Amino acid sequence: MGDILAGQVAVVTGASGGLGAHFAKVLAAAGAKVALTARRLDLVEAHAGEIAAAGGEAMALKLDVADAAAIGPALDEVEAALGPISILVSNAGVGGEGLALDLSIEEWDRTFDVNVRGVFFGAQQAARRMIASGVAERGDARIVNIASIASHTVLPGLSAYCASKASVAMLTRSLAREWARKGVAVNAICPGYIETDINSDWFKTEGGQKQLKGFPRRRLMEAEDLDASLLMLCGPAARAITGTVITIDDGQSLPGGG
Ligand code: NAP
Repeated sequence: MGDILAGQVAVVTGASGGLGAHFAKVLAAAGAKVALTARRLDLVEAHAGEIAAAGGEAMALKLDVADAAAIGPALDEVEAALGPISILVSNAGVGGEGLALDLSIEEWDRTFDVNVRGVFFGAQQAARRMIASGVAERGDARIVNIASIASHTVLPGLSAYCASKASVAMLTRSLAREWARKGVAVNAICPGYIETDINSDWFKTEGGQKQLKGFPRRRLMEAEDLDASLLMLCGPAARAITGTVITIDDGQSLPGGG
């Protein structure tokens, strides 16, 4: 992968497993120093250890993004250890499950606290630091929000999740516009289905298998399928890319069955 991110400092939220742990490893392999954050510290520590064993530089930090007030101090800790932050991958997310007729207030709030408030205040806190440190002026400031095909496609039974991910897409564009001249690029990736803890139970069910068979390529994606877009958005080639919401979904959200 070379070292296109050499000298960059990246923070990944929700890096205790699934896509976040993978993203952290991809960024580290491209030369970035990476801070892996999530609520389960033992798991982020293990992934940071794997990065270090592979010759990369990584640190692990406990961070619950639903606790918006905790985000700034966590980013300060990262900057003290690794240097000025230039990349934030806002990946932490929850599934927001429940049919609309049954969905509890608590589940709605949990979904939006993590998926939307966490993304907004993560971006705010990161952008403040990127501007103050001169990273933004240098042209290296990148925020990548992990949205979903749910940002623009109805996933039946997931109204809270879909609404939260549509918010992430619009937040991405709004923040990109507001910070365009300040030099902070804000983009989003909308992945299709990749098997992780967030959905593995679903794909074991008959309904899940039926959904999978309805995808144009009759398969789930792999985390690696997102590498090219992640590296592009975080790297120097993205100078003119901001406010872009990229769908990488193996065609899953294309209309028409069969
Ligand atoms: P996952 O395996 O369930 O991972 C979710 C991650 O988010 C975990 O590391 C979890 O860590 C973290 N998280 C949850 N609540 C958090 C909180 N309050 N504060 C900090 N971290 C929190 O699911 P995933 O598939 O990797 O999902 C990653 C992102 O991709 C999510 O935003 C998801 O919506 C999005 N996405 C996934 C798919 C897919 O098919 N897998 C498709 C489109 C979009 P802790 O529990 O340790 O905090």
